[in-house]
Amino acid sequence: MLTDSPVLDTEAVRREAGRRRTFAVISHPDAGKSTLTEALALLARAIQDAGVTHGKSSRHATVSDWMGIEQERGISISSAALQLTYRDTVLNVVDTPGHADFSEDTYRVLAAVDSAVMLIDAAKGFEPQTVKLLAVCKARNIPIITVINKWDRPGLDALGLIDDVGERTGMTPVPLTWPVGIAGEFQGLIDLRAERAIALAAIGAGAQAAEETDVDIDALDPHEAGAWLEAREESGLVESSNGSFDREEFEAARQTPVLFAAAAKNFGVSQLLDILVDVAPSPSPRPSKDAGPRAIEAPMSGFVFKVQAGQDSSHRDHIAYLRICSGTFERGMVITNQRTGKPFATKYAHRVLGRSREVVDTAWPGDVVGLVNATSLRVGDSLFSEEPVQFPDIPRFSPELFAVARAKDPGRYKQFRRGIDQLEHEGVVQVLRSDLRGDQAPVLAAVGALQFEVAAERLGTEFNAPTSLDNLSYTLAMRVGPESQGVPETFRGGEILFRSDGEAVAVFGDKWKIGHFTKDHPGVVLEPIGAAV
Ligand code: GDP
Repeated sequence: MLTDSPVLDTEAVRREAGRRRTFAVISHPDAGKSTLTEALALLARAIQDAGVTHGKSSRHATVSDWMGIEQERGISISSAALQLTYRDTVLNVVDTPGHADFSEDTYRVLAAVDSAVMLIDAAKGFEPQTVKLLAVCKARNIPIITVINKWDRPGLDALGLIDDVGERTGMTPVPLTWPVGIAGEFQGLIDLRAERAIALAAIGAGAQAAEETDVDIDALDPHEAGAWLEAREESGLVESSNGSFDREEFEAARQTPVLFAAAAKNFGVSQLLDILVDVAPSPSPRPSKDAGPRAIEAPMSGFVFKVQAGQDSSHRDHIAYLRICSGTFERGMVITNQRTGKPFATKYAHRVLGRSREVVDTAWPGDVVGLVNATSLRVGDSLFSEEPVQFPDIPRFSPELFAVARAKDPGRYKQFRRGIDQLEHEGVVQVLRSDLRGDQAPVLAAVGALQFEVAAERLGTEFNAPTSLDNLSYTLAMRVGPESQGVPETFRGGEILFRSDGEAVAVFGDKWKIGHFTKDHPGVVLEPIGAAV
């Protein structure tokens, strides 16, 4: 068997890792994330299928299989990670739940990606959720490809948007495509990499790539040439002021390539697919806490970036999502949990797609695997075979929602306490306590309301401790530095609470209260939570 040979195995791992791109689409709700993801999936398949020969058709069998299932019921991107094959490259699109599903998980999944596609609505520019996700990417130095979407609708000015991208991201925006026609009059693209001008036309809706026709701008009729000449001039202006694309600058998150698109019409989407293949980074050696970066070809290792539990009453199981960092994952292999030292048998490894699950037999660096019945696994756990490794912790993120939890039935306090401890360990919610509030009434803290819903549901059903949650009017938390002097228990507009590891956190009603606080308590050092990664 080939896998018995370590040399061939190493080559296979390198080859497979090299053809993987693991990324997330970050955006504000409604910017078109689902539409773009669907367009990427449909086009990747349509373009691949349009090829005359696929000698190795089994290579994308997985994609077609799920496409078959998912097409019947409409594409669901509620899955943790969607896998597509395009130009012999495997694209792992890791979902960043938004809307009502926005939670600390939305931030944590960014620990599992090698790059991000930042989607911006051409009419709305930067919106709050995009800004928050961008900050997490920036803190992790994740390379970002910017896509300005909905160019088929009236919107802002292209040059103005480019300036905005530069200001908001702190990176130099470098357009790789430039739109022909103002927002709302999307006629084509200048592909600056290929030095082509392309007229775009929609061929019906759905799985069809847009019709692309090469245009010779200099040969156009003068009355037709206006928008094309303007696009050429504007893109030239940006290039002369911002420079051209530089892979090193992009990978260091100092440059962001920019594309223009209308995902709903599949305009600009095939260009994005090509850019993901040509430009987005493949998995690289992951830094570890103890032993330097883990080489891609080292024995299997990965870390848990998300645990889903108790949300679906029909399967009351825990699924731990593992990002593979090195080696070959094979279903059935026994791996070790670094935190507990205990073995974990990967009998039930799945790629979870919406509500359907597909068994994963083999996975490579960059892939995401859902481990089912993983009650012993927590967010941040490192798993390995053979050579131990501990990957850096996934940081906590600054909570914005706070609620006091109390057992509805005081006779169930023991169950309540066990449940709260478990939810804290799993990272479902952050738990803050103080002597003033007492152990019976801990404060739960979260970045999204879903975290409270999940916590209350699990306390009631899994731990048999129905719980009431009373919202507090705080919106901000800051870490109290250990060197602080004269820390008060309470103060106007906030209070001091403690995590179970003893770290003190000050919570505030709004940012103005922080100003009052620092004036009244000059010895207290406040630090942001979750910014330094
Ligand atoms: P999400 O919340 O970011 O996943 O956004 P959706 O993909 O659900 O899109 C929100 C709305 O915008 C839907 O009605 C889409 O049809 C529409 N939409 C998405 N992309 C485009 C686009 O390129 N052009 C136009 N005109 N509408 C779009």
